[in-house]
Amino acid sequence: MSDIELVLRSTRVITPEGTRAATVAVAGGRIAAVLPYEADVPPGARLEDFGDDVLLPGLVDTHVHVNDPGRTEWEGFWTATRAAAAGGITTLVDMPLNSLPPTTTVGHLRTKREVAARKAHIDVGFWGGALPDNVKDLRPLHDAGVFGFKAFLSPSGVDEFPHLDQERLARSMAEIAGFDGLLIVHAEDPHHLDSAPQRGGPEYAHFLASRPRGAEDRAIADLIEQAKRLEARVHVLHLSSSDALPLIAAAKAERVRITVETCPHYLTLTAEEVPDGASEFKCCPPIREAANQDLLWQALADGTIDCVVTDHSPSTADLKTADFATAWGGISGLQLSLAAVWTEARKRGHSLEDVVRWMSTRTAALVGLGARKGAIEAGRDADFAVLAPDETFTVDPAALQHRNRVTAYAGRTLSGVVRSTWLRGERIVVEGEFTEPKGQLLTRTP
Ligand SMILES: [Zn+2]
Repeated sequence: MSDIELVLRSTRVITPEGTRAATVAVAGGRIAAVLPYEADVPPGARLEDFGDDVLLPGLVDTHVHVNDPGRTEWEGFWTATRAAAAGGITTLVDMPLNSLPPTTTVGHLRTKREVAARKAHIDVGFWGGALPDNVKDLRPLHDAGVFGFKAFLSPSGVDEFPHLDQERLARSMAEIAGFDGLLIVHAEDPHHLDSAPQRGGPEYAHFLASRPRGAEDRAIADLIEQAKRLEARVHVLHLSSSDALPLIAAAKAERVRITVETCPHYLTLTAEEVPDGASEFKCCPPIREAANQDLLWQALADGTIDCVVTDHSPSTADLKTADFATAWGGISGLQLSLAAVWTEARKRGHSLEDVVRWMSTRTAALVGLGARKGAIEAGRDADFAVLAPDETFTVDPAALQHRNRVTAYAGRTLSGVVRSTWLRGERIVVEGEFTEPKGQLLTRTP
């Protein structure tokens, strides 16, 4: 093993077989071997000893709105990937909307890739978008390397990304199933939303009532029916309604090809604690009650929910008005996601291994990167986070790297300090100091 350039040592390395003291050998940006803790350092290799800090695989966040180009006053690849790196995330997959252009044609994808290439501090991949009128673009986008296609079943919040009705959903799903692609869906039923009371104003209770669980449940039931009929592969984005869990569990038992994600804010924040007018807590579907949250945790534990992603979706601060009806809907959680989830997970008796499974291994697998990312195992990319899991910090928005330092987590005390983050064997951030961008653009591997 003379080509080993780096060895990383910790008393707590999270591997697929569990947490153990180990030495991780890196060559050519990949993990060459996971060796016993006492293994000799090969001649010429550099040793980094993290002591009792935990070495875990870099997180893979498959749901991020970077908004670049076009709405870079909201966010951008430079700031988003720095925030991600600071939070222990080494791969993100960018959502197709809120940038201008949206990622809905191969030409638009090319534009996005050119912009991202110069600014990516971590590895970046792209979702495509399924619109009412771009069915012909889906296969070319798939061939160009997008990881799948996002569709909305209700208005998306931006005019250039219209939603699909059931007929158009079926058409897009059939096309995508034709090449065994993945359709990822914002599942809220528009008719159900229309019939909910739309009272507006600063009261969180009014906002919550305007996006009822039933809207999610209806949309997910319809999605399951279509997926079953077309034998399509579908993924439910940002599940919030615990009432949909029995439907999903039943579909999985019937071998419908469905996976489900939820988000740190649904797992760590509750409707009961959102102050009126505090639209930094607004997202769609909304943060629901504590009892709902308990059931989401149970579903993660039993596998009904597969993974946890941020749905980081910022805007400028002025769009976060005190009226929940008109404020921009989106939570900025990229840098804090690992600490937020870990803080709550440990309280509920889950291990850091569970968190790694939900936020790295399973998300990597979702987008077909399971052979490259998501675990500390020979052959995979040498992407790591070094975490002090018992150290706490209080969230200071000024310490966040994303462009608009609005956050629902301000003032919270969280467990888990990311000491450094490593991408393909290079330390890309340590104590707030970043290297030049070293991220690569990822494409779906056939
Ligand atoms: Zn989103």
